[in-house]
Amino acid sequence: MTSLDAAVEAAAMALAYAKRVSVFSGAGMSAESGINTFRDPEVGVWKNKIALYMFGTPFGWSWTPGWAWSAYRRFHGPIFAAQPNAGHIALATLPSRLGLPKDAVQIATQNVDYLHQRAGSPVETVFEVHGSVFRHRCIKRGHPIALPTDQPLPEHPPVCAQCGSKARPDAVLFTESLPADQWEGAERAMRALRRGDVLFVIGTSGQVQPAASLPDYTAAGVVKIEINAERSGHTNQMDIFVEGPSAVCLERIVQRAVELKQQQQQQLR
Ligand code: NAD
Repeated sequence: MTSLDAAVEAAAMALAYAKRVSVFSGAGMSAESGINTFRDPEVGVWKNKIALYMFGTPFGWSWTPGWAWSAYRRFHGPIFAAQPNAGHIALATLPSRLGLPKDAVQIATQNVDYLHQRAGSPVETVFEVHGSVFRHRCIKRGHPIALPTDQPLPEHPPVCAQCGSKARPDAVLFTESLPADQWEGAERAMRALRRGDVLFVIGTSGQVQPAASLPDYTAAGVVKIEINAERSGHTNQMDIFVEGPSAVCLERIVQRAVELKQQQQQQLR
């Protein structure tokens, strides 16, 4: 048995016994859907530090909204084209496969790509602590601007019907605070876990605060399982570290947990 096999088995065992499961996900969760993470590859929008400053900060959006919009479109393109991967689907199908209530699985995500919900996780169980690139609002006053979600972004930034300022994503930019309702939901999802329940920390470097502090809100006795392609800022606080790609590993863990749960139930009969 390899160390990966052993970690998958340990994670599946914990999952088979859990009554509730919470998830804290980051950009690595969507890497196998073809969306670049922030820290890993030196490519595209992340490599061009000027473009990143222009579309990643409120200053960039207010000084050069046209430039910010075109850099943002390059970030948005792969997200728009992406499909949920096996990991998103494993989490969305976890309640039905393990015989848990639908709301027993709650997801706090730093991702802005809407892939958890597109995979089938109910919207009321997903908390987007960094917002979403499928919602927009105006730069000056924050008025909502509805754009079609089934089409790529237009070439030029749309204009607010109420105040005339240009559109920006309803996502958290560097230096901005997090949306209070989403943060409260995420914190509740962490605090809802009891001894023997499971927290998955998936594909996040642990570098972005305050989101990286979310796992600290879980109680003692919660089994903390990290899935990451490499060690992160969270690894030392975890009970189980599954070192590998999240889409492949999550499906393996969930499938094995289903088998273990069926075996438990047969023994009880
Ligand atoms: P990060 O880029 O800082 O770290 C990515 C982590 O994912 C790393 O620890 C890396 O080892 C791991 N990883 C890479 N590929 C993986 C895979 N296939 N399976 C498992 N793990 C993998 O990401 P972060 O911690 O989420 O912070 C970056 C910020 O940028 C977040 O706030 C996020 O909102 C934003 N962001 C979002 C998206 C998205 O919505 N998909 C994409 C890029 C950046």
